[in-house]
Amino acid sequence: MGRGIGRYTAALLCAAGLCVGTLSLAAGSNAAKTRPAQGMETGALAGWIVAVDAGHGGYDGGAVGRQSGVAEKGLNLDVARRLARLLQAEGAQVVMTRTDDYALCDEDPPIRKKLQDMQRRAQIVRETGAQVLLSVHMNEYGDAAQSGPQVFYREGCAAGRLLAGALQEALIAGLAPPRERAAMGGDYYILELGIPSALVECGFLSNAREEGLLLDAEYRQRVAEAICAGLLEWAALPGPRPTPLPPAQDA
Ligand SMILES: [Zn+2]
Repeated sequence: MGRGIGRYTAALLCAAGLCVGTLSLAAGSNAAKTRPAQGMETGALAGWIVAVDAGHGGYDGGAVGRQSGVAEKGLNLDVARRLARLLQAEGAQVVMTRTDDYALCDEDPPIRKKLQDMQRRAQIVRETGAQVLLSVHMNEYGDAAQSGPQVFYREGCAAGRLLAGALQEALIAGLAPPRERAAMGGDYYILELGIPSALVECGFLSNAREEGLLLDAEYRQRVAEAICAGLLEWAALPGPRPTPLPPAQDA
């Protein structure tokens, strides 16, 4: 799993909105070195390390806009970047699993490319000590009438279910979609890491109206604002903060 990870870096974005340097996730590196130092941030999310995962990338475009042909991967990254800035403004430290248009897998890996890509995203989350993860995606479905943002959590994870519920409510409040969906349990690798995690399907690229909205930068900003608002609601709930994952042992 550690093999070849040194080719990839994850930007660690500080609370001031400046990039304080890139985290080099070299294979065999001491994870403690890659964990953000506890700063003196202020804001509702001060002290939080939030992983923002822009789905797909590189060879893997994800869903495709039925009218436009635009791939999900670029829209995900745009929403993720907007979300990262908003979270930083609230005092969070943000770790992005990818910062440009690439997949995290090797050209010809010994395991499935998609699996290696996901494992490396998980490794970034683990090594940076993130306490919560938000994965950004766009949906598609055969039936073009289906629309509306929808948030998924890992079945059986109570904190993740609360997080997904808060995000779902915030997306409905912020975007007023004609179809109000409910948060649902879902079987996704990225939700299995062991920290509270939610996968946000921002809308359906197979629905002409929603595709038009998602192609609009102002709407994507509203999506990011709604996700940020939902995380703020969840983070303000009483109870102990989730603890980051222990650093992975290099296999
Ligand atoms: Zn996707």
